[in-house]
Amino acid sequence: MNQYTAYATHSEVLEFSCAACKTTASARVTASAEGHATSINALAGTPAEVAKRRAEAAAEVEAKRKLKAARCVNCGERDPGAARRWWLLRLSVPVGVVVICVVAAYFPTIAGNEIDADTQATLVKIVGGIGLFVGAVAFLFHCWLPWRSIDDGIDWLGKQQPR
Ligand SMILES: [Zn+2]
Repeated sequence: MNQYTAYATHSEVLEFSCAACKTTASARVTASAEGHATSINALAGTPAEVAKRRAEAAAEVEAKRKLKAARCVNCGERDPGAARRWWLLRLSVPVGVVVICVVAAYFPTIAGNEIDADTQATLVKIVGGIGLFVGAVAFLFHCWLPWRSIDDGIDWLGKQQPR
């Protein structure tokens, strides 16, 4: 089973509206995303095409999400609700990695197999350790670094303050 990964960048002029000061503004937002496809689920074209299409769709969604969570051009406030949604979606990846590894580590016990305590403990240390490491790397690259640069790629074009 081959895994295909494609990258895409989406750039679009979008409308922003600040929850705090009610300023509306337009901005050109540029966002990048990656898309995946396997040779098995690629029914709608070649895996490379499907991966590309998914990357483009993800970049478009990310551009909208990013602008919603951006600092307001006028007052500098961030919409806490939009920021929280951005984090929850992003956090699902590292949290998912850790959960899968913890379940995998305890799988013999969960499945009711005969396994001695030492073997189970070793399994938890190794698989759990890998899970924590991969989870930390995923957190860094999928959450922390994108968050640090969330206001990059937003070019404000004009704002209108409420009367
Ligand atoms: Zn504002």
